[in-house]
Amino acid sequence: MAEYRFEEILRRLKLKVTPRRLAVLEAMARETSFLSAEQVWSKVSPARKMGLPTVYRILDELALSGIVTQVIRDDRQLYYFLCLNEKHHHHFVCTSCKKVEDIDLCLADELRAEVAQRLKGTLVSHIIQLQGLCSHCAPQEQQK
Ligand SMILES: [Zn+2]
Ligand SMILES: [Zn+2]
Ligand SMILES: [Zn+2]
Repeated sequence: MAEYRFEEILRRLKLKVTPRRLAVLEAMARETSFLSAEQVWSKVSPARKMGLPTVYRILDELALSGIVTQVIRDDRQLYYFLCLNEKHHHHFVCTSCKKVEDIDLCLADELRAEVAQRLKGTLVSHIIQLQGLCSHCAPQEQQK
């Protein structure tokens, strides 16, 4: 995996570089799937002695800055994923192995036109969450 310079990234996001923020980023960088705040907490807590509310606060800050994406799963819990692809894009989540992959296609222009035409409104933001089976899991599902 690539070496990420989280100090630089935090500075660029205008967030103060703190050991806690770095610990959360480092823990998340090792993951290929969305984690709940509790899961992030269990990964950073033994070394950093931080409470769950702190982890929630840091995740919120990182989500606001755009470096962390949030999804809501069927259990209505929020899950977090660190993605360093800074271009606007969406995520494909494998429902079997939970792996996350980037999708660069965006339908914002079509959505904006539809909102303008049909609702006479203006599109401000959009969240698109794609779920399916990844290239590894799809063949296995077919064999079942
Ligand atoms: Zn998969
Ligand atoms: Zn991404
Ligand atoms: Zn988009």
